Order: sequence, then structure tokens, then C-alpha cells
Amino acid sequence: MNKVLLISTGGTITMVRDASSHALVPADMETFKAYMPELFEGSVQVDIQAFTPLIDSSDINPDCWVRMAQIVYDNYSAYDGFVILHGTDTMSYSASALSFMLENLGKPVVFTGSQLPVGVLRSDAKENLLTAIEIAAAKDEDGNPIVPEVTIYFEDRLFRANRTTKRNAEHFSAFNSYNYPALAKAGVHITYLPHLVRYNDLSKPLKLHKQFDCNVAVLKLFPGIQQTVVRALLRTRGLKGVVLETFGAGNAPTDKWLYRELKAAVDRGIIIVNKTQCSTGSVEMGLYAVSLNLMKAGVLSGYDITTEALLTKMMLLFGENPGNIELVRKLIGMDLCGELTIDK
Ligand code: ASP
Repeated sequence: MNKVLLISTGGTITMVRDASSHALVPADMETFKAYMPELFEGSVQVDIQAFTPLIDSSDINPDCWVRMAQIVYDNYSAYDGFVILHGTDTMSYSASALSFMLENLGKPVVFTGSQLPVGVLRSDAKENLLTAIEIAAAKDEDGNPIVPEVTIYFEDRLFRANRTTKRNAEHFSAFNSYNYPALAKAGVHITYLPHLVRYNDLSKPLKLHKQFDCNVAVLKLFPGIQQTVVRALLRTRGLKGVVLETFGAGNAPTDKWLYRELKAAVDRGIIIVNKTQCSTGSVEMGLYAVSLNLMKAGVLSGYDITTEALLTKMMLLFGENPGNIELVRKLIGMDLCGELTIDK
């Protein structure tokens, strides 16, 4: 029997309505298990480790990522795969973080959750969780895991984690991967697309990275943005990295002050990465004249990476390589685990 470890952090999937405030709050794993007897009736052995207390994913932070990744690492040889129950609000951040933390991963780590709590009649919880478990346990005819990546399974799609964004607070199809196709589709059968999956060299041991440096920020440009705002952010004490959310193919206003502020920040050792505000498509600096100043200022291209993946990648690279700005600059421009496409 294949074995899957279910790591529960909380999220709507585990929630019940609080009698006094009427707001949704995480319950506990015993309540959750009572709603999910199917967990223990299938052809996969499911063991559980849960955060106590369970939390809403708005309270997730890098310490939680370390706890999740450490559980995977400590139990790596004992299980065929892992499923992480998580709130949808920050799932793309956590799942992206774990994709960078677990170097040389050779087993599935599938994040899932639901839009309605498990106890609600129309809940998407059971379908999401039971399919995620099946995917985490799935092997090919040679006995190798079919999708040995960190992924998100939601509604009927399996996505590479570091390509996802939460796109909908209402629909059951809460996530999308705008710049990379789904790795599997679930209908009556689960159709895997192995040619899209990354397979690491299994002779290399799993390596856990867990030092984060949170001195990063997101600067979203908009028409009319003021120098005082840009300057205040770029001069934040201790700041190491900035996700610069630009227009279209990576374009920005040509105001001289913007160029000067960005250049001065780069000269102070801050790494600034150009990420388009568009969901689909890639940064192409130099395509339009309005991105030339960014290049001259030393801003790096984020290609088609998501903000969630870029932030977590930066935080981990700064944490793991303190003081080594050149190495961090080099690694940010590289595809470490399928998070970006360098050439279209
Ligand atoms: N607020 C919830 C959370 O992220 C939403 C959800 O799980 O869908 O924990």
C-alpha cells in the first residue's frame, strides 16, 4: 500500500462557523477527520501531522514554511508522497517557497484546500483532498512517482506550485498557472502530462534550505506615482530586494527622477527585478524605449515569473547567501525549479 503523509496547516477546508462572530475559524483535526472518513477507506495509507492550532493562511509566515518543509524532510524516506492542507489565500506563496526550499525533490508534495469548509454540503473539500492524495501516491509502471514536484491541486487541475496565483475568491477554480500548462487534469480519469513535469536527478539527496531574509518589498508602478513614495520605499533601512511591478512587457515611466532613484538603489546594492503587472506573458526589456532606462539602471528581468515565486525566491536566496549579492543576482536570473521561462 502506498503511503501519503497529510500535513494540515488549516485554511477554509478545516473551518467551522464561530457561533458568536459568525466568522469562519479553523476547527481541529479531530473535527475534520470526522467529516472525512473516506481518508482512511481508500487504497492509500494516510497518516496525519497537523499544526496546533490550525491557522487561517493569512497568518502564514516563513517560520510556517520551515515547519512544513521540515516535516517533509524528516519523513521523506517513510512516505511515497505528501499532501499539504492549506488556506487558499496565501497557498501560492507557501507552495512557491517550498519548491525552492526542497532542492532535488524526488517525491510529490501536493498543496490543496477548498473554497467551502468540509462540513458544508456543496463543499469542494472532499474532491480536492481525495484527488490530491491519489496524485501524491501515483506511480508509473516502473514504480517511480509521476509528478515529483511541489504542486497545487485545485478543482480539476494540477499546477506547478511556483507558477500559480490565486485568481478567484468565489469560484471553485481558485488558482491558475498563467505561464505554464497544467501538469495533470482530473475528470473521470486523471490524465498526467509527464512531458511537462520536471524530473530531478534522483542520485542527488534531498537538500533542505530554510534561511529566509524578509527584507524585500513590492513596488507597483502606476500612472502618477510620486517620487516621494518611490524614494521612501527604496530607502527603507535594511532593504535588499524589490519586485518592481511594471506595465506590459516590462515598461515604466521615463521620468528622470525614476531612473535616478532606481540607479541609486542598485548602486547601494539593492537587487531590483522587473515583473510585469500582466498575469500572462513575459518581461522583455528593450522591446520598447520605455524600458531602456530600467536596463541602464541595472534592473534585472523577472521574465515570466509570478510575484509570489519571485518574492519567496528572493527571500530564500538572500537568507541562504548573506552578503553575496553577485551570487543572488545570478541565481535570480536562472530557472532554479521551473519557475520561469528565459527564452520564448
Ligand atoms: N481565509 C482562508 C485561508 O486562506 C481562505 C481559504 O482557505 O480558502 O485560510
